[in-house]
Amino acid sequence: MEIKQIRSCLMQAAGPSYTAWTGTGQSALSTGRNWLFIEIETSSGLLGVGEASGWPKVVATGVSDIAYLLEGEPVFETERIQQKLRVALMGHGQTGVVSGGVLAAIDMALWDIKGKALGCPVVDLIGGSVRKSVPYYVHVKDSETALAAVGRGVRTLKVGGTQSVVERAWAVREAVGPDVDLIVDLHGPAWLNGADALAVGRALEPLGLLFLEEPVAPDDRGGWKRVRDGLALPLASGERLGTLAEFERLMSDGFIDVVQPDTGRCGGITQLKKIAAIAEARSILVAPHSGSLGPVAEFAALHFMSSIPNGLIMERLEPDWEGKARAATPMLQASEGALLTPRAPGLGVSLDHAFVEAHPSVRNAALPSGGWNPGTEDQTPYMQARTHRARLTSR
Ligand SMILES: [Mg+2]
Repeated sequence: MEIKQIRSCLMQAAGPSYTAWTGTGQSALSTGRNWLFIEIETSSGLLGVGEASGWPKVVATGVSDIAYLLEGEPVFETERIQQKLRVALMGHGQTGVVSGGVLAAIDMALWDIKGKALGCPVVDLIGGSVRKSVPYYVHVKDSETALAAVGRGVRTLKVGGTQSVVERAWAVREAVGPDVDLIVDLHGPAWLNGADALAVGRALEPLGLLFLEEPVAPDDRGGWKRVRDGLALPLASGERLGTLAEFERLMSDGFIDVVQPDTGRCGGITQLKKIAAIAEARSILVAPHSGSLGPVAEFAALHFMSSIPNGLIMERLEPDWEGKARAATPMLQASEGALLTPRAPGLGVSLDHAFVEAHPSVRNAALPSGGWNPGTEDQTPYMQARTHRARLTSR
């Protein structure tokens, strides 16, 4: 069975009603979120579906550029195809998450086809089930949204951003009690510097976080070292990386306890398994990122997480934009704060073409708001030392 044709389906997706990333719950997802799905058609008529992030509009061009190199390739040779595409993409430089997105979408679709051809779910092809369901966490912006999530059965919550984050995290802990796990994501911009991140981390330490995510910018090595040396909290990062070598470096630096590959931009299921193996050797846990992703990547993440021994938890925006349940079917089933791994052949998900085509891409970039020092938002600095530092850590 060979690859016959590849199609891209790029769509505009609206954002959820709130996310954890700012004090207001508003995020750039509401105006700049695109979903890129691809479909691979084979010589035998089977259809595989994949999804990419890593700047979806640009990745769509990448997929279209390399599609001719895939025609006639045997579907089952996913590792060799991955190597061939890496070589083809290399001429554009080390293009990080864009190449990682191209590889991810194609690899995901090929695994989907393999499962369909063999009549088994993808998880059975990549090691089999270590677990039948995978716990997930949701974003909350305050104690009200936290209690609503717990009422739905969710057992892990994430608070984020830098504005009043200590105050909100403490309020959520007081509302939900000690038996619900909390995550804090200090997601910039503006990113904190090492001194401010350490102060915030110390104010959060008594909360017993499941992990503290990106306390400083991912490329601020000095800041990471300062936070790592000064805090007992588990630390997490990795959502902005695309290549296996970048993940290996991140983990060998010794700064993190939890690695967060984004399912749509780090090379697909083939590479996720390699990242998980490196993590396993270092006693690092895996918690895939899913900030802007659509439904197909979530299915792929679930098969992957079901198959590894060091899977910690999945990220899920819930509630999300209502179109997530329309763009692809069926919906994943959740129970007691965990997603049940689908048992249908392949990934177990298909696109609704009419819905996807009815939402063409309009815009795929946006600036966040909130989180800068008062009166400085028009400067939009990437990193910013904080003024009124007593407010940064007050609760
Ligand atoms: Mg994050």
